[in-house]
Amino acid sequence: MNSPVRAFNAVGGTPRFIRSASGAWLTDVDGNEYVDLICSWGPMLLGHAHPEVQARVAEAIARGTSYGAPTEPEVELAEEIAARAPVERVRFVSSGTEATMSAIRLARGFTGRDVVVKFAGCYHGHVDALLASAGSGLATFAVPGTPGVPASSTELTLVLPYNDRAAVERVFAEYADRIACLITEAAPGNMGVVPPEAGFNRFLAETCARHGALFVSDEVMTGFRASRQGQWGLDGAVEGWRPDLMTFGKVMGGGFPAAAFGGRADVMSRLAPEGPVYQAGTLSGNPIATTAGLATLRLATDEVYAHLDRAADTIKVAASDALTRAGVAHVVQSTGTMFSIFFTPGVDGRVRDFDDASTTDSAAYAAFFHAMLDAGVYLPPSAYEAWFLSAAHDDRAVSTVLDALPGAARAAAA
Ligand code: PLP
Repeated sequence: MNSPVRAFNAVGGTPRFIRSASGAWLTDVDGNEYVDLICSWGPMLLGHAHPEVQARVAEAIARGTSYGAPTEPEVELAEEIAARAPVERVRFVSSGTEATMSAIRLARGFTGRDVVVKFAGCYHGHVDALLASAGSGLATFAVPGTPGVPASSTELTLVLPYNDRAAVERVFAEYADRIACLITEAAPGNMGVVPPEAGFNRFLAETCARHGALFVSDEVMTGFRASRQGQWGLDGAVEGWRPDLMTFGKVMGGGFPAAAFGGRADVMSRLAPEGPVYQAGTLSGNPIATTAGLATLRLATDEVYAHLDRAADTIKVAASDALTRAGVAHVVQSTGTMFSIFFTPGVDGRVRDFDDASTTDSAAYAAFFHAMLDAGVYLPPSAYEAWFLSAAHDDRAVSTVLDALPGAARAAAA
């Protein structure tokens, strides 16, 4: 097991070993087929083994796999990203973890400050400083979220409850001149989908600006997935603000290890070699990965997002209906094309933050998960994840999901 989210610890049972994937379907080593509602945890926006992406990748591989020198696909992919997201410059890395780690280093280097603010339940990869849990009492510095992270790595991190403006105001009042940046998932998907309340991201951007801190919007999951322009397309583009720095991954790598951070030119120009803030990577901007990402984004048209919206709506409505009939308390939440179903009544019918998400009935989800798996649907093996669809989730795939839902809902109720 090379990444713990793939394990079945939270739901019990044995993970399936996958032999191949095509379109919306996974095939395991025993020959069983599943409709894939994980999509590699987000990247496979077009579905698996998309013929056009495969063809571009095969051509790229024939030209060699890594040069350690600049290439055209890097520039073209950066331009494609900048055409969708408000970034003046882009730097490629190989994972979302590297993107957020580099973004906070750059924020610290640019501002000359040391404190980083994050929200409980937002995951930004396994960066030491961001694997942090709230200390006891509000506005205390964080404690390590896992063994192996020294206290010194999290003692400059502040962890706040999501969607809580008062908490943000309090820490900025107390630590303003020390805060280098506030980093947030543009819309959290790693505690299940918890959309920012109306105007929350704008409030964060304005609060950071007022105090000379940078606003870092992590769109590794939502980027080019929640909408054509990511979460920013749903709020910043409409309300007229932009983050100082953004991070991307998943979809923009087309199923290969590629990620990026980018943003204001005056901030990005502080990066080496132009500026003094060091950041580097042997495989950064790898020609195969950038070719796959470029092909994926070029094929991710408005029609793709409209299709994802429709398929998501059909599944959300049917799942909610099945759970209601079976008497299972649940909350359905979405942001753009991303959604998840919480097995909890929520608080006032909603899940606003990590504490609310933590009321989830994991045992009910485990029963639901296994009934879906037995019926040929591969859901995330954790109750705290988004369900991912692709352009390849056609009527046959969606019908397989719909047919499985009533039995799974009854299993959850048992
Ligand atoms: N940021 C967000 C919002 C993520 O969802 C993830 C991964 O799930 C990461 C960062 C880390 O990305 P990676 O797993 O590529 O290191």
